[in-house]
Amino acid sequence: MSVRSITLRETGEKFRVGKILCLGRNYAEHAREMKAEIPTTPVVFLKPSSALISSGETVIIPPISRELHYEVEMVVVVGKDGRAIPRASALDHVAGYAVGLDMTLRDVQADAKKKGLPWSVAKGFDTSAPVSDAVSRTRVTDPHALILTLKVNGDVRQRASTGEMIFKVEDLISYLSTIFTLERGDLIFTGTPEGVGEVRPGDRLEAELQSVGTLTVHVR
Ligand code: MG
Repeated sequence: MSVRSITLRETGEKFRVGKILCLGRNYAEHAREMKAEIPTTPVVFLKPSSALISSGETVIIPPISRELHYEVEMVVVVGKDGRAIPRASALDHVAGYAVGLDMTLRDVQADAKKKGLPWSVAKGFDTSAPVSDAVSRTRVTDPHALILTLKVNGDVRQRASTGEMIFKVEDLISYLSTIFTLERGDLIFTGTPEGVGEVRPGDRLEAELQSVGTLTVHVR
């Protein structure tokens, strides 16, 4: 059964998850590997809260797909409501940080891109959003100086610094809040670095965000 809340590790405080806002192409090297243009404004899509699972749970490939990809990402947990939030006070709206996987049905997404259709199915299916517990913002000195790592069956597949993000956390909160009211418990997936690839049933994925935490899921 999906868990629809995120726990702040220090205090045990629970955040009921609302919308899950996700960034595409927020690392230049990943945009290049996808043969996509490097964006000048953020590329945004959504996952429903029903996509959320926690560490120890299983990612299930739906019958419409034969190609599941991992994307490791830093996840921002929104702690305070806001609209049109200035960049200078953006971090006041962050409760904490977590590590997440933007699981993607790459074959379904490629077909949608070709036909000019939305990504909702490719990105928003049940179990497509595994997220770790969160660490309080006050424990993270600089969210743009953390190493993100993803291992599949023990082998490192992705490893990069969050410093390579094109749009920083402050930019994303400021920009997104001009379009979507940000609410306590919303999550922001901040994009993946290069090295994305396929996983198959039986594979074990271990995601880590330095100083923040780890997340382990299996594929079925
Ligand atoms: Mg992604």
